[in-house]
Amino acid sequence: MKLNSIKVLSFLLLTSLGVAGCATNPVTGKNEIMLVSEDWELNVGKQYYSPLRQQQGGDYTADPAVEEYVRQVGQRLAAQSDRDLPYEFNVINDSTPNAWALPGGKISINRGLLVQLKDEAELAAVLGHEIVHSAAKHGAKGQSRGVLLQGAVAAATIVGNSKGYGQAAQLGSSIAAQLTNQKYGRAAELESDLYGMRYMAKAGYDVQGAVGLQETFVRLSEGRRNDFITNLFASHPPSQERVAKNRQTAVALGAGGERGEARYAKAMARIKKMAPAYQKFDEARAAHKENNLKKAVSLTKQAINMEPKEGHFHSFLGDISIQTNNMKAAKVYFDRAVKLNPNFYYYQVRRGEVNQRRGAVSAARADYQRSLKLMPTAEAQYGLGIIERDAGNTKVAKEMLSGAAQSTGDIGKKATNALLKLDLGDNPGNYLIVNRGLTSKGTFAFQLINKTSSPLAGIKLGVTMNGNKSTSNISGTLGAGETRIIDTGRSMSKAQADAVQVIVLGAVVAQ
Ligand SMILES: [Zn+2]
Repeated sequence: MKLNSIKVLSFLLLTSLGVAGCATNPVTGKNEIMLVSEDWELNVGKQYYSPLRQQQGGDYTADPAVEEYVRQVGQRLAAQSDRDLPYEFNVINDSTPNAWALPGGKISINRGLLVQLKDEAELAAVLGHEIVHSAAKHGAKGQSRGVLLQGAVAAATIVGNSKGYGQAAQLGSSIAAQLTNQKYGRAAELESDLYGMRYMAKAGYDVQGAVGLQETFVRLSEGRRNDFITNLFASHPPSQERVAKNRQTAVALGAGGERGEARYAKAMARIKKMAPAYQKFDEARAAHKENNLKKAVSLTKQAINMEPKEGHFHSFLGDISIQTNNMKAAKVYFDRAVKLNPNFYYYQVRRGEVNQRRGAVSAARADYQRSLKLMPTAEAQYGLGIIERDAGNTKVAKEMLSGAAQSTGDIGKKATNALLKLDLGDNPGNYLIVNRGLTSKGTFAFQLINKTSSPLAGIKLGVTMNGNKSTSNISGTLGAGETRIIDTGRSMSKAQADAVQVIVLGAVVAQ
């Protein structure tokens, strides 16, 4: 059952691709054709880093020291990079073992991968590898091949309840898939392994960490179903070839360096200890998918007992409370979630909805506005549009509703209808088309086309004929999408008919 899905609006890539030309790869020193400029890389990183993290579950905040630790390890490696970029590192609150890099030095690792790693050297191997993807413009090369970001990107759908925040339903076309699951290709993977290990060595890490990491990946991939692994390491497919190559590289680079086992164990103590809580949560979501709400609630409460600081758990109980129409309880759960992580859009959108339904309009407005700053969603735009409409702020209301109207599904339809009612009086000609011409009998006729999905009535036309202005009221209702010919019965020549001007003066949505 798909419940309360949130539509994430399209992001338009506003940056141009820059100028094509030959350039030296800053990592490998090879001369290669680049179809994108450095500005493009920096802009893509800047523009998509935050919304992609939001889309995939937000940052992991239950133990803020984890993200801080990952940042330190990341910056230690970035300092050894052949390319100076505004590197950033964060931990995404998602159980899938994965990591990705955007052009321009923006790197993410999932909570689910951190729990699989043995020591800091393995973490350094992951981050070093991602740094090379970014520094060596592997993503930009994908763009050169026309693989990613073909102008406007299709809207992605996030299903908050059953599939998790991270699982965009339309992965195939979504920007998340294109940017974070793109296959770099075998050559780029090997290049990232090689130079990543060099950065590790320079930063003082034991490069055996990269060998161990690949072995772990191969082991994980062998134990899994094919479709699972396809999603899991889509961007960095593990292989025996990579294990073998990393072994060779390790021999060439020599032994030594630190593994940071104790430091890693200390930093990951909470995240590893809490792994069973996240398992309970996964089970809760599975139970919810099978409509077993009681079991879903019970399992989530068990998860909260183990890890009270995870906002997703509280938010999930909030979702279920909305589903069972208990807005009072929902408010309490979303309050807790927002308090635990005020920077995750989903909690704010949902609390906005709860506040709106409880009549707490100004609280709802504030929630929606904050959520929109974090991530544009059709739900927040629609909710805010209705609030502003009711407050008489027609301009903002129209802006919000037209944004939401672009999304597909229920919310898009609701927004379109609300916008229609609001805008029809001002711009009837945008919704109702009127043409004029002669019938086969040579009589003058109007053709009316209702472009909307609502029946329209009270249609008033302004007609100018031989310099005389008149109005004409069309009786009855014009159905949704209906085209109607209204024959005036008056004979005239084609030239006379062409000289008639007609505009739509007014219409209302029929009740
Ligand atoms: Zn890779």
